[in-house]
Amino acid sequence: MTVGVPVHLGRPRPASVTGGALAAMPTAGPLVDTYGRIHTDMRISVTDRCNLRCTYCMPDDGMSFLPHDRLMTADQIVRVARVARALGVTSARLTGGEPLVRRGIVDLVGRLADVGFADLALTTNGTALAPIAARLADAGLRRVNVSCDSLRPDRFARIRRRGELARVLASMDAAERAGLAPLKVNVVLVAGVNDDEVLDFARFGRETGRVVRFIEYMPLDADGTWRRDQVVPGARVLATIDALWPLEPVAVASGDAAPATRYRFRDGSGEIGIIASVTQPFCGTCNRLRLTAEGTIRNCLFCDEELSVANVLARGGSDEELALVLRRAVWAKRAGHGMDDPGFLRPTRSMSMIGG
Ligand code: SAM
Ligand code: SF4
Repeated sequence: MTVGVPVHLGRPRPASVTGGALAAMPTAGPLVDTYGRIHTDMRISVTDRCNLRCTYCMPDDGMSFLPHDRLMTADQIVRVARVARALGVTSARLTGGEPLVRRGIVDLVGRLADVGFADLALTTNGTALAPIAARLADAGLRRVNVSCDSLRPDRFARIRRRGELARVLASMDAAERAGLAPLKVNVVLVAGVNDDEVLDFARFGRETGRVVRFIEYMPLDADGTWRRDQVVPGARVLATIDALWPLEPVAVASGDAAPATRYRFRDGSGEIGIIASVTQPFCGTCNRLRLTAEGTIRNCLFCDEELSVANVLARGGSDEELALVLRRAVWAKRAGHGMDDPGFLRPTRSMSMIGG
C-alpha cells in the first residue's frame, strides 16, 4: 500500500520515516511512536488566516496565506477526524490561524462533534466569538481557550496589533453564558512586554474563576526575532504568584499529557496553568498530533517533517491509507523538540501556519 509522500520543508528526514524502523511499526492498535507514547489528542487547524497580527506569531503585514482551494474541505477534515477517532484519538481541538474566521465553522464543529470525541474544544483570539458562542455550544463544542495577553487596552492593541480588549473580554462572558466552561485564558508572556502583568492575570483568574495559563514564548514567530532572553520562565511566574497567593500542585491522573502544569490557590480561589515548553519541555508525555489547514500531519510543533493526507485524499485513497499516514507520522516522532541542541533550527512554518 502506498501512503502520502513526505512533505519536506527544508530539513532532512528523520531515519524513522525512511529507515528500517518502519518495519517495526504496528499496523493495529493505538497510535504509538517508537518511544511508546500513545497519541490520543489531535489539533485540527481549519485555516491559516487570522484577523489579528500578534507580534509573537505573525508579521504586521506581508503574511501570505494558502489559496482557498488548498485548504482542506469540511468533508476532508471530518473524514480524517473519523480515521483518527478510529485509531484511538479521543480529544480534538480546533485551531488555526483563527478558527472562527473560517466560513461554516459552526457546521464543521457540529460534524466533528458527531465523530464522537470525548472532548471537543477550540482555541480562539476571542474577537468573533461572542455572536456565535451559543451556536458553537449547541453544535457540540465543549470548551474554549481564549487568548489574551494583556488586561491593559493600549498594550493589548500593541501586542495583537488589531482587535480590542473589551471585545475579547465580552466574548469570554458570552462563552460562559453559553456553557463553554471552564474557560481557559492563554497568556503568552514576553519579557519586557507583559511580564509585569503576571499578578494582574492571577487576580483576574481568582476573581472570574477562569483558568489563566501562562505560556512561554516559543521560537515560532513569523518575524523570526525570538530570543531566549525574551522567554519568561514558568518557574519565575509560579514563584511570583505563590509569594502573594500560595499555590499547590493539582494532582493529575497518571498519564495526563496536558501541556499545562496545574496549580491551585490554597485558599480555594481557582487554579492557574504553566506551559513551560521552552524551559521545562513536556515532550516525554506528549500525546499530540496535528492536522494542518492544507492537510498534512505534523507530529511536533518543532519538526518540519510532515506527511500528507491531502495527497491521499486527492487520489481517492482509502481510510486504511489515511490511517497509515497517521501511523507513520506518529511513528516518526522524535524524542523531544531539541530546542537546546546545538544544531536546533527553528521550524520553517510559524505558529499560525502550523496550528497552535
Ligand atoms: N488564533 C487563535 C488564538 O490566538 O488563540 C488560535 C491559534 S494561536 C496560533 C494558538 C495559541 O498559540 C494562542 O494562545 C497563541 O497565543 C499561541 N501562540 C502563538 N504564537 C506563539 C509563540 N510564538 N509562542 C507561544 N505561543 C504562541
Ligand atoms: Fe492570529 Fe492567534 Fe496568531 Fe494571534 S496568535 S496572530 S490571533 S493565529
